[in-house]
Amino acid sequence: MSRAWLIGAGPGDVELLTLKAVRALAQADVVLVDDLVNPEVLQFARDDALIVHVGKRGGHASTPQPAIVAMMLDQLRMGRSVARLKGGDPFVFGRGGEEQQALQAAGVHVEIVSGITAGIAAPAAIGIPVTHRDYAQGVIFVTGHGAGEHEADWPALAATRMTLVIYMGMRRLNDIADALLRAGMSPDTPCAAIESATRPEQRHVCAVLRDLVQRVADAGLGSPSIVVIGGVASLAAPVDALLQHASS
Ligand code: SAH
Repeated sequence: MSRAWLIGAGPGDVELLTLKAVRALAQADVVLVDDLVNPEVLQFARDDALIVHVGKRGGHASTPQPAIVAMMLDQLRMGRSVARLKGGDPFVFGRGGEEQQALQAAGVHVEIVSGITAGIAAPAAIGIPVTHRDYAQGVIFVTGHGAGEHEADWPALAATRMTLVIYMGMRRLNDIADALLRAGMSPDTPCAAIESATRPEQRHVCAVLRDLVQRVADAGLGSPSIVVIGGVASLAAPVDALLQHASS
C-alpha cells in the first residue's frame, strides 16, 4: 500500500530531523521538497527515489499549491509512496494544513511527521528560551507577512506582554516595529533577529525595539529570519560564547 507523509525537516541542522522523518524518507518512492529544507536531509532518501524541488528559490518559479497536490495524487495513484518535505514543522506556517485538506478531499490519508519549528529553534540557537517564568507567561507565533485584512492585530499582541516570535517578518519589519511602539510597547524591549538558524551561515543581531530595524539593516539580515520580541531576548548568549561553540 502506498503511503503519504507530510514531514517536517526541521530548521536546517540535519541532526534536528526526527527519527520518524528519517524512517519515512527511507521508504518514500517520491520526495517533494520545499525551499527551506536543507538539501543534506535528502541523504536519508532512497538512492532511487524521485526527488522533486517545488520551491521558489534559486531563480525558479515555485510550483503552485494545486499542482503540488495533483503531483502527489498522481504518484499515489501509481502506487508510489510520497513524502512531502517542509522546513521546520509542516503545520506551522507551511501551508501543510491546506495540503492535508486537499489530500483528504481526494480520499488520501496523510501521515503527519512533526518537525522542530524555526520559531523555537532559531531563538534557542542563540540561547533564547521562548518562555521563561521571569519574563513571559507564553509565546505567540505570528506571521509578519500579512497586510491589510490579513495583518495581525499588533496592539492586541503587544498588550499580552508575551514573547512575540515573528515568521516571515523581515520585509515588513519597519511597519511591525512601528505598530508595536505606537501600541505602547517599550522602546527598550529586548529583541533579536536570527537568520538561517542552525545552519553554518547562521547570523543574528540583538537590539532593543527602537533600534531593531536599523540594526537589522546595518547587518544586512534578510530571509529566512525569525524575529523575537520580548524580555526573553535579553537572555541571548554573548557572541563570544556562540563563536566558541561554533568552532568546537
Ligand atoms: N514551517 C516552517 C515555517 C515556514 S514559513 C517552520 O515551522 O519553521 C518560513 C519562515 O520561517 C521564514 O520566512 C522564516 O521566518 C522562518 N524560518 C524557517 N527556517 C528558518 C531558519 N533556519 N532560520 C530562521 N528563520 C527560519
